[in-house]
This record gives sequence, C-alpha cells and structure tokens, in this order.
Amino acid sequence: MIQEPPPTVPTGDLAELVACPQCDLLHHVGNVSEDASSRCKRCGTVLFAPRTGAIERLVALALGALVLMVVAVSFPFLQMSASGFSSKASVFDTISAFTGGLMAPLSLATAAFIILLPVLRLCALIYAVGPLLFGRPPVPGAATSFRLASRLKPWSMAEIFMIGVAVALVKMMGMASIGFGTAFWAFGFLVILVTAMDAMMCERTIWRLLAKR
Ligand SMILES: [Zn+2]
Repeated sequence: MIQEPPPTVPTGDLAELVACPQCDLLHHVGNVSEDASSRCKRCGTVLFAPRTGAIERLVALALGALVLMVVAVSFPFLQMSASGFSSKASVFDTISAFTGGLMAPLSLATAAFIILLPVLRLCALIYAVGPLLFGRPPVPGAATSFRLASRLKPWSMAEIFMIGVAVALVKMMGMASIGFGTAFWAFGFLVILVTAMDAMMCERTIWRLLAKR
C-alpha cells in the first residue's frame, strides 16, 4: 500500500504562500517568476497563469459586461402570449413583483444578487485595474476595491438567475407561447463574458501589479 507523505508546512513570508483552490495544499511561490505559470504539485490545478495582455482583456470584458447589464435591465426580458392575451416582462418587473408583504425581502435579495452586487463587483474591478492599463499608479483604495471585487465573486449570481429562468421556461412552454426579448440575450452574453473574465483572471498577477506600482 502506498502511503501519502505527511504534509509539510512551508515556512517564510505569508504573502509568498498560495493555497491550491482545489485541494488546499500550500505552495511557496516566492521564487516563481511573474511570467511563469504554475500548477499544484498534488492535483495539477493551475495556480496562476500570467499572460500578456491579460489586464487589457480583463478590463474589456468587465466593461462589456457592464454595458450588457444596462441593456439587460432596460429592455423586455420575455414576452408571453396565451389565449389572445400577451404580456411583456422586464427584469425590473420580475423584481418588483414581490415588493409587498412577506415576499419583500425576496425582491431585495433578487435585486441585490442579480443586479446590484454584479454591478458593484464589475465597477470595483475596473476602478482597481483600469489605471494599470495606461501605466499609471493605482488609484487610492485600489487594493481595497480589488479585495471587495474578489469577495463579491460568490455573491454575484446572474448565472444562477439564468438557470432559474431556463427551468421556469421549460415548465411554461406547454402553457403559453414565449418570445425572448433583447434583455434575455443580453443576460445570456453577460453570463458568458463574466465566466470568461473569471477564467482568465489571475489574482496573483494583479496583486503583484498593485503592490509594485
Ligand atoms: Zn491541488
């Protein structure tokens, strides 16, 4: 039987330690060059992959996602027609449908998770990283802003909303004819942009850039 070696705790500066996001193994990365990419030595997960032009793409994707969010909340999301009656609903209509009584907290939570927190996260990211694009020093509060953006990541749930909508649509297809509005497609592309942005963002590179300047 092969026994796994006992885990060793690397020593040194805390800022040079990186935990694998999959298996939590600690790695000492102080001597890894900024242009190198590294993988976890236990499970092979990519720990960081700095790429040239990554900041430009990050800011472009975040700006694109913000524009799509404006479209997503300004235009009709779905149009339904059944037995001669037809109605259009926007994301705001969905949120304001429960503003009274016991359901009011649900409205607030929906607005926060699918619009307010994602917009706050994108703005915080652009504020922190944007000036680096032009070779400027980080603006005051850039580190706090980037930390806020990282903390908000699990709370931005536009994609969960889209999954919910997809499930509801499957159930309603038989009862009414459904048309997709501009906001539906904007939300769909928004989810793709944010997923691409998260996949290519290397937090370590950004922290290093913020610290260096
Ligand atoms: Zn690992």
